[in-house]
Amino acid sequence: MIQETKTFECRVCKSTNIIKNGTNRCGTAQYHCKDCGTYRVLSPKPAYSEMNKQTVLRAGLERCSLRGVERIFGITRQTVVRWISAHIQKLPKVADTLLLAFPDDVLELDDVWSFVLKKDGPRWLWTAMCRRTRQIVAFAIGDRSKTTCLRLWKAIPEE
Ligand SMILES: [Zn+2]
Repeated sequence: MIQETKTFECRVCKSTNIIKNGTNRCGTAQYHCKDCGTYRVLSPKPAYSEMNKQTVLRAGLERCSLRGVERIFGITRQTVVRWISAHIQKLPKVADTLLLAFPDDVLELDDVWSFVLKKDGPRWLWTAMCRRTRQIVAFAIGDRSKTTCLRLWKAIPEE
């Protein structure tokens, strides 16, 4: 029989005066360093590669639910939301992606609603779509009030 003993040290101060300290939400073992007082994961998982990130983002773009992505790839949905948020920050603004408008273009205004987290917090997505190009030229998210409608109205580009 071959036995291997592995000695862990604190990742902050390199001390070996550490004790087990349960697990985190994902079930990964944690330690507590008695010298510097930190609580860390015993053996951190390797960072996700850029290719994995792109695959997960593509699954999100294909409208796979966050919980679905979590189950398929084994990545917590908080991490997925963080990646999506970072991806959205890099995207161009809606106004920068629009095709040239013609003077006789007609905009169709519409609203759809859904709820966020709980049913007593409905949110309306107001959209303005160009009938010719089928592009969403402006949007506003909020309640179903005149204020949100005015925000959509002001978001519509002049040209
Ligand atoms: Zn330490």
